[in-house]
Amino acid sequence: MAEKTKKEDKPVADKITVGHVHMSGCTGCLVSLADNYGGLLTILDRYADLVYGLTLADVRHIPKMDVALVEGSVCIQDKLAVEEIKQTREKAAVVVAVGGCACYGNITRFGRGGQPNQPQHESYLPIGDLIKVDVYIPGCAPTPQLIRNVCVMAYLLLKGTKEQKDLATAFLTPLMQLADRGTTACGCDLIYDVINQGLCMGCGSCTASCPVRAITMEYGKPNVNREMCIKCGACYAQCPRSFFNVDVVNQYEGIMEAIDGALK
Ligand code: SF4
Ligand code: SF4
Repeated sequence: MAEKTKKEDKPVADKITVGHVHMSGCTGCLVSLADNYGGLLTILDRYADLVYGLTLADVRHIPKMDVALVEGSVCIQDKLAVEEIKQTREKAAVVVAVGGCACYGNITRFGRGGQPNQPQHESYLPIGDLIKVDVYIPGCAPTPQLIRNVCVMAYLLLKGTKEQKDLATAFLTPLMQLADRGTTACGCDLIYDVINQGLCMGCGSCTASCPVRAITMEYGKPNVNREMCIKCGACYAQCPRSFFNVDVVNQYEGIMEAIDGALK
């Protein structure tokens, strides 16, 4: 009975609508979202209705939604896939590229076709090459925490008070700037955009973030084995001297308090 009263206190109309759109991905990004365990249930209970997601719900066509979490890149020889990503842009107010494949192509950058039963399926593009993307969540897989934080912040941005909207904007701005930066990624980003710019401080965060251990620290600076790099973009995204935004650092405590408070 008490639970019923609680639900009435949080009418569905107050929630945002969220969908998971599965392009050429491995579902690892969705698993990462699910790895929030109780946190995901709290989000679904209080803040977001999952209105689309072929892995989890029997809704066959992409509906209108506030936030689309898109996983995977797009095979441009697959007409249905191209149509789906365009529809996603039309139906979603905010499009989030979740994971290295959606942001940067990742392992699908190595697709060359020639395999049965669709040998002509040879070209894969990050979603930002076909549609405007609002927010990037890089990583292969992206961390559960980052996906969770973006979901909570998207809710605060769309439904929060003025103060909460400001906080959410501060949090999301660097991830929006990352989306504006482009659709290619590689360990060489560290060389061109950090080391060669005189910005590297040898902290080793890039080494820790690489999922395939393609980066080693040599004489205090990262060295990238390009044969091993799977083009996920995690290293550049994690580097504190890359797109780091001082406004967010200053508001970090407030942001974390808002997220912790939302999930209590
Ligand atoms: S070096 Fe590692 S973290 Fe950086 S893009 Fe390549 S695979 Fe990803
Ligand atoms: S994370 Fe950035 S600053 Fe740190 S070692 Fe790697 S390139 Fe240098």
